[in-house]
Amino acid sequence: MHDYLKKLNEAQREAVVNTKGASLVIAGAGSGKTRVLTYRIAHLLANGVPPYKILALTFTNKAAREMKQRIGEIVGFEHASNLWMGTFHSIFARILRYESAYLGYDSNYTIYDTSDSKNLIKSIIKEKKLDEKTYKPGQILGRISRAKNNLITPSTYQNNSTYYSTDEAHRVPYTGQIYAAYMKRCKISGAMDFDDLLLNTNILLRDHKAVLEKYQQKFDYILVDEYQDTNFAQYLILKKLAEKHHNICVVGDDSQSIYAFRGAKIENILNFQKDYPEMKVFKLEHNYRSTQNIVNAANSVIANNQKQLPKKVFTENDEGEKIGIVRAITEVEEGHLIANSIQEKRLNEQKKFSDFAILYRTNAQSRILEEALRKRNIPYRIYGGLSFYQRKEIKDLVGYLRMTINPNDDEALKRIINYPARGIGSTTMSKLESAATANGISIWQVLAAPQNYGVNINSGTTKKLQGFIILVQQFTELAANNDAYDAAIQIASNSGLLKDLYNDKSPEGRSRYENIQELLNGIKDFVSNAHEEGTDVKLHTYIENIALLTDMDKNKDEDQERITLMTIHSAKGLEFQHLYIAGLEEGLFPSSMSMESPEEIEEERRLFYVALTRAEQTASLYWCQSRYKWGSVESKSPSRFLKELDQAYIEATSDDNYSFENPEPGQTHFRKPGSQPAFQNSSTRKSGTIKSRNMRQPMRSRPTANQGPAADPNFTPDPPENIKEGQTVIHQRFGRGEITRIEGEGTNRKASVQFASGRKTLLLRFAKLKVI
Ligand code: ATP
Ligand code: MG
Repeated sequence: MHDYLKKLNEAQREAVVNTKGASLVIAGAGSGKTRVLTYRIAHLLANGVPPYKILALTFTNKAAREMKQRIGEIVGFEHASNLWMGTFHSIFARILRYESAYLGYDSNYTIYDTSDSKNLIKSIIKEKKLDEKTYKPGQILGRISRAKNNLITPSTYQNNSTYYSTDEAHRVPYTGQIYAAYMKRCKISGAMDFDDLLLNTNILLRDHKAVLEKYQQKFDYILVDEYQDTNFAQYLILKKLAEKHHNICVVGDDSQSIYAFRGAKIENILNFQKDYPEMKVFKLEHNYRSTQNIVNAANSVIANNQKQLPKKVFTENDEGEKIGIVRAITEVEEGHLIANSIQEKRLNEQKKFSDFAILYRTNAQSRILEEALRKRNIPYRIYGGLSFYQRKEIKDLVGYLRMTINPNDDEALKRIINYPARGIGSTTMSKLESAATANGISIWQVLAAPQNYGVNINSGTTKKLQGFIILVQQFTELAANNDAYDAAIQIASNSGLLKDLYNDKSPEGRSRYENIQELLNGIKDFVSNAHEEGTDVKLHTYIENIALLTDMDKNKDEDQERITLMTIHSAKGLEFQHLYIAGLEEGLFPSSMSMESPEEIEEERRLFYVALTRAEQTASLYWCQSRYKWGSVESKSPSRFLKELDQAYIEATSDDNYSFENPEPGQTHFRKPGSQPAFQNSSTRKSGTIKSRNMRQPMRSRPTANQGPAADPNFTPDPPENIKEGQTVIHQRFGRGEITRIEGEGTNRKASVQFASGRKTLLLRFAKLKVI
């Protein structure tokens, strides 16, 4: 037996050595599915199969790199480098470059990203004189994307009454026409979007028999990781390529299917059984990744899903620590509790930063976590997303804020003068810019009187430019007369930026909208802080603060080892010794967007299963009693998934004597009325009545000037004169803290408070502290 086969258990070895025919490896998390694929490829190579005859598809490029590395270690790197291994998109983009002529494309075609696509759709909508309010570009792009992933071409789309009638129902009957125009324009520009890569590969293989046969001959073996998340277009490509030899091996876990919103179909697993009736099924049940507590806890939650294939997962690893559940008062406190815990564990147990990861449901959650980590100099890296302040939408809003403070800021001006679109085109911009350069002045100065600098602009454009000038002047006035938050929220709204993002209902669009909300939360924090500390609350001070923040970011040493921050969606297939999951609250995780159907809740539950099963040694789950939303405090109840965890494997920790099982009378503890009954899946659980507190608060409040932190109606602060040294208090934003010192008299009475996030000096008249 080859040495490498000894590194597999019997079930895995079977799945590795049976290389002929169709194989389906269906197994739970951490049971070695990816390991089986890796070793199966190594085994093929060791038995003389040339690497270029093997096609291996992974979910991320990172996964492909890691697999190649491992295979190289087993059979030598010269073999591994010639494998056809990568994501669906990267592999088929490559094939399309070779075969582009069949489709009438150049081999150097461009790949459009979402914003390119959206801009193109916008201009088509405009050309067709359709209303952008009805035909929202993001939504139209979503409809086109779904059509492409189901292999519906524009002509099929336009001739199909079902599509026509759903478009009619959504009052967008011309979607088919936009789709056709979009495809045509992409082609003229020599561009394909992401979905085209799969659609065009399908067309290529469908319409050009010689090409199909060439690749059927070429790839003797096909292997696919994370098969549960393939969509119809991907499924069909695989089916065509494997038609002749049937040497196809797919591995997956239906319990980890988390991309239904992008068209992934669990049905592909069932179709697989139909397409290859002779297929062999391999079940792996031995989890090597996680402790018993983690495996059992994850199993107990996923058992609540109706729709799943039966499978077992066990581990021979240690029992390990119980899953920690931590309640924080606010998300600021949550960030600091997590950061403290990481710091402590690292020092006490001599861990590396790279042993830790923090996962969250939405990108917007990262800002507060980043701040807490920065405060302690804990190096981190955000995967699958840009650092918060680097994101486009954040830069756009900050661009407006910068323009407001200093209209001569050319970079900010270029960024936002035509975003959201105001019909100020690139020709006008380049005229203005060259005049500015020639005269040694800012673009803003040229804008005021273009004719004085020899710039000829027609009257229509002149009007648009004047509109922009007035807008910025209004903002400048706003910023002079309001605090940073009041100014920023009105700028976000009056600039049209908020609306533009709001109109985009795609998952990416939603996430951008949430990010803006999160930036505004940060500004709100800045204002409350400044009020309490008696410092300046104006926009220019805020802008200066964040400029320093981003500078600090840039100076981070790239080679340093770091902790990982990522959304759960991008954590698929990965593993970490110590895992933290933040924001386990109803409405956040599961997401409020998923509450409408049991199917969506099941998808959220699978997402939770993916999250928890990333942990090797410890997992800690955090939730907050309250969270900022649009500058107001919203009460939160713990996620139903926390309650579904078998109580035998969890340990609720809290330093305020909070017991997860038996909330003290009168203590705030929440359950959404009508939600799943809590604590029923454990024999050890006593059924206590859980008081529900008003759960729904207005999603938005329009803050007015002078209104300190927007109030949680259930939060009644103690009068300033009752605050004494040595007391433990709660602050609405910073959470628990201890009063270390009181000084001053009357309205100047100040307290030094030690919070988890550090020491603060607060003016008691603003601080709204509650003694506990
Ligand atoms: P996921 O569902 O999360 O993608 P998976 O089923 O692909 O998980 P792997 O990532 O392949 O699981 O394996 C999980 C961990 O267990 C890895 O660290 C892997 O190296 C280890 N492992 C798997 N099989 C064995 C084995 N037979 N002996 C020792 N370690 C193993
Ligand atoms: Mg895997």
